[in-house]
Amino acid sequence: MALTHNLGSPRIGGHRELKTALEAYWKKEISQQDLEQTATELRLSQWQAQSALDLLPVGDFSLYDHVLDMSVTLGNLPERVRSLPGGELTQYFTAARGGEVPAGEMTKWFTTNYHIIVPEFHEGTQFQLNPSRLVQQLREARTVKGQVKPVLVGPVTYLALGKATAGFAPLSLLPRLLPLYQELLVLLAAEGASWVQMDEPLLCQELSALQTQAFHQAYQALSSSPVPLLLTTYFGRLAENYALVRKLPVAGLHIDAQQDEAQKIEADWPLDKVLSLGVVNGRNIWKTNLKSVINQWGNAASRRGDRLWLAPTCSLLHVPLDVNLETALPKDLKQRLAFAHQKLHELTLLAKAFNHGLDSVADEFEAHQSPERPTPPASTPLPNYQRAPFEQRQVLQRERFRLPLYPTTTIGSFPQTAEIRRVRRSWKSGKLSDSAYHEAIRAEIAHAISRQEELGLDVLVHGEAERGDMVEYFGEQLEGFAFTEFGWVQSYGSRCVKPPILYGDVRRPHPITVPWITYAQSLTDKPVKGMLTGPVTILNWSFVREDQPRALSCQQIALALREEVLDLEKAGIAIIQIDEAALKEGMPLRPAEGKAYLAEAVHCFRLTAGGVCDSTQIHTHMCYSDFRGILDAIADLDADVLTIETAKSGGNLWDSFRAFAYPNAVGPGVYDIHSPRIPSVDEMVSLLRTAGEVLPPQRLWVNPDCGLKTRQWSEVLPSLTQMVEAARQIRRLSGAETSHVI
Ligand code: GLN
Ligand code: ZN
Repeated sequence: MALTHNLGSPRIGGHRELKTALEAYWKKEISQQDLEQTATELRLSQWQAQSALDLLPVGDFSLYDHVLDMSVTLGNLPERVRSLPGGELTQYFTAARGGEVPAGEMTKWFTTNYHIIVPEFHEGTQFQLNPSRLVQQLREARTVKGQVKPVLVGPVTYLALGKATAGFAPLSLLPRLLPLYQELLVLLAAEGASWVQMDEPLLCQELSALQTQAFHQAYQALSSSPVPLLLTTYFGRLAENYALVRKLPVAGLHIDAQQDEAQKIEADWPLDKVLSLGVVNGRNIWKTNLKSVINQWGNAASRRGDRLWLAPTCSLLHVPLDVNLETALPKDLKQRLAFAHQKLHELTLLAKAFNHGLDSVADEFEAHQSPERPTPPASTPLPNYQRAPFEQRQVLQRERFRLPLYPTTTIGSFPQTAEIRRVRRSWKSGKLSDSAYHEAIRAEIAHAISRQEELGLDVLVHGEAERGDMVEYFGEQLEGFAFTEFGWVQSYGSRCVKPPILYGDVRRPHPITVPWITYAQSLTDKPVKGMLTGPVTILNWSFVREDQPRALSCQQIALALREEVLDLEKAGIAIIQIDEAALKEGMPLRPAEGKAYLAEAVHCFRLTAGGVCDSTQIHTHMCYSDFRGILDAIADLDADVLTIETAKSGGNLWDSFRAFAYPNAVGPGVYDIHSPRIPSVDEMVSLLRTAGEVLPPQRLWVNPDCGLKTRQWSEVLPSLTQMVEAARQIRRLSGAETSHVI
């Protein structure tokens, strides 16, 4: 009998109940007890939705982030946070969001748009087991079902994800860490855990010799666990690491069975151990082809009996909760979709088919069939995208804009007030007329422009009041995308996105941003940056059709956006930013695939940007600072200015830029917008001085880390005032107040 299980669930709730509760708690509108009540209800409803499975996951739920939870379990919150008064929850949220002391760094969880709070390590790190959260949730889960499987971030992945003080290797903490895992496993066994899921997605990356060694050491040490361990891998192929995995003394292995290596692994994996096959895609929203799973794995199921488990490829955290909440999707599209609940149902159908024969599910399989998909179009010839060399463009642009050295700008959005959100909502639901809506957005743009003029910023933005979400907004204006009402996916903490569904061919039926940007430009003599989301980011933040290569879909988006870029230029917009916030996160973890991906990404970006005159300045923005191994591709994008996140994590960033001799201009983010904290002039000047050691002042800009939409005006105005002052000081320091840059 094949068994079914799940690796993890969406946490936020079908109606984002967790978001509402968290934000109310942070504003002190509800108590800790109220927050915990909501969390308990959400967990229970998740487990109930999974009760047809053979094993329930426990501990996948989190109030903010499961990696941060693991840090709590291991007593490894940063010391600056642990010394704060106010109890465990206050410390937890301070580590997540900052407050009296800076937050932990945030980084993307492997190739997803989910962000973790990076664990911090140093030579003196001492761990201390704090199992109360897991134990409490395990007890809760067992009221729903006896068979439960706590989920832990495995020790090697946990250490590898962390950041450490210079020169210190977190992996050297392994001997200190393993006894805590051992102790925890004993405890979980005593609490009735049937299995423990050890998440080690690191195994889908190329490993260093040290990391390989660490896996041996860790799982040898944990082999005495009284509860069997399911070594859980996802987000790619094991490839050469399978040989390592094969030697580890674990009771079971989970693999992404949609990878081409899966059949080979199945043929080799010992029959007396559990093999969990990720047969349902945890990263996309299309129905599984059940018959092909049956065909592919039928033999394995009969050979392995109850040692064959069926699961999603990865946690369902990365897909929305329930397609049945949707009322407005085109019917033929809706019939092709499976969100988390539907994916769980697919698992139970598959198990039934394996265990009781295809006849037992004939009707259900019939009802589950997807309608035929339309055939993809023939490809069209591509326009040219070669611009003149940067040095030539720089001369023209310097003449045109006459900006000071270290010009100041922002990344695009300004605070999204409750009023603005209300306006958009009422307009979308038809309660507000087009003209009233336009009036309201124009008023907001005018407000943003005059604030920026008062602040003395050099390059202005219109503020993005018309956009709830940078990808959804463009998807809505382009043909080929569909939108859900409740298809929320967690991005970080209480932040969720509703990825569009790219299901057809992409076309731009009309200009998208031109009216807003030109209106903003009409209000000021300073340059206003046009603001677009780039093709790679739109692709990576959408659920993408699988009936044609992703690269082809990306190219279609690029061509549509190119038309927008050219229309902006024609309308007199001289600086255009094409955000590629998500360029890196779509990159496969394996180098060879990563290279092909980057080549395609560069191609699509240049297709979008490359049609403009040399005196038009192209900016791009990226939400991270780790450019190791991709800086040559970033340089190949050939944007005139690259703005990046650096305020929280400068680290090895400048080493990469120095080593590579990055050729174009850079705007290092000096204001950490993920935190309500107002940065001081000194700390921003100091960041700029570091930048100035790597790049000449003629190629440096001053800006926040990212867009300001999640902040309040009351935080943004003082922060930007300080930022403009920091720019003045750095100009004075470099004795260059009067010269001109780009
Ligand atoms: N232009 C966008 C904004 O300012 C960029 C957001 C992002 O990079 N995530 O909101
Ligand atoms: Zn950003």
